[in-house]
Amino acid sequence: MPNQPAARHATVAVQVGTVKVGGDAPIVVQSMTNTDTADVAATVKQVAELARAGSELVRLTVNTAEAAAAIPRIREQLDKQACEVPLIGDFHFNGHKLLSDYPACAAALAKYRINPGNVGKGKKRDEQFARMIDIACENNKPVRIGVNWGSLDQSLLVRLMDENARRKEPRDTTAIMHAAMVASALQSARQAEELGLGHDRIILSCKMSGVQDLISVYQDLAAKCDYPLHLGLTEAGMGSKGIVASTAALAILLQQGIGDTIRISLTPEPDGDRCKEVIVAQEILQSLELRTFTPMVVACPGCGRTSSSFFQQLAQDIQDYLRQMMPEWRSRYPGVENMTVAVMGCVVNGPGESKHANIGISLPGAGEKPVAPVYVDGVKTVTLKGDQIAKEFQLIVETYINEKYS
Ligand code: SF4
Repeated sequence: MPNQPAARHATVAVQVGTVKVGGDAPIVVQSMTNTDTADVAATVKQVAELARAGSELVRLTVNTAEAAAAIPRIREQLDKQACEVPLIGDFHFNGHKLLSDYPACAAALAKYRINPGNVGKGKKRDEQFARMIDIACENNKPVRIGVNWGSLDQSLLVRLMDENARRKEPRDTTAIMHAAMVASALQSARQAEELGLGHDRIILSCKMSGVQDLISVYQDLAAKCDYPLHLGLTEAGMGSKGIVASTAALAILLQQGIGDTIRISLTPEPDGDRCKEVIVAQEILQSLELRTFTPMVVACPGCGRTSSSFFQQLAQDIQDYLRQMMPEWRSRYPGVENMTVAVMGCVVNGPGESKHANIGISLPGAGEKPVAPVYVDGVKTVTLKGDQIAKEFQLIVETYINEKYS
């Protein structure tokens, strides 16, 4: 038996607009915009791009009166484009006021994210938290209680630290901070339920920026509740560091059945594509065989036998082409996302890998005849040669998809 991920921990399912999170639902991919929410045109454009890339939920910051006023207009314009992706409002400090003053914003959002560390201080904290929960109840909306390492409820942390100091054998500070993260989420969830929010209207998260911290906190959280969990390494960082750290943390937790919706918090490169975080999230889930989104391109790393960069270029072009076509293919060719395409640099492993894929090509390595055998469903069908190999191979892929998945 191949290795299998553990059964998912969440037994409760939460409906977020048209998308179910938790229970037996597939793990949901979500993302967050980085436009000024008050800039309706720019935000609509980015939400539509994220949704087209495969983001099933999109979160927007709602930090000012202008941002709150923009939310219903953003929703309306997305609906006009037939982009139905549910929108989540990310609230801090003034969320109670914005949700009260802008009822159309409260109605247009599919979920509210509340950070218990940033709701207010002292007595005001409880009042302001209660106001947001009341509005969620009135609008029949779920909330995510999203605790963050960088804005942990300081009064709770101080109380737990004091209690720890009075112990005969105090635990180390990191353990207390982890415990404070989990306690903050669970206490706020209990408080929300006492205020009338349904148990099936709550999603929890406890985001941290250290991989081992995140694993430890989520294991504890999952053991203590049955709410769906939003999973992500906060402030993951840029480029390969952010991708590797997020993958390392999420792979371990997802394999243990922990996590019902994921977001990859990558810092984009200047002018970089925001959709990268969606692609990375999908690739993590697909690599773990938890979901399939896009045909997989299997490519060898190349070595001294690789004769030119043509092979890398072909692998890249095919990968880009498949990803670009997926939004259209998703409905036209059901099942195409399970396909694999092998692009290999020489005949050492090329034909073997090609036979395992739906379609495979082995480009000529150094010193080999300038021909490229193509395998379809494990059978060699044609040998390509000349300077049109890339075009002819793409045509073979298109014909195969059309015949097999129509
Ligand atoms: S398939 Fe050929 S080119 Fe690719 S890594 Fe293996 S030996 Fe090198």
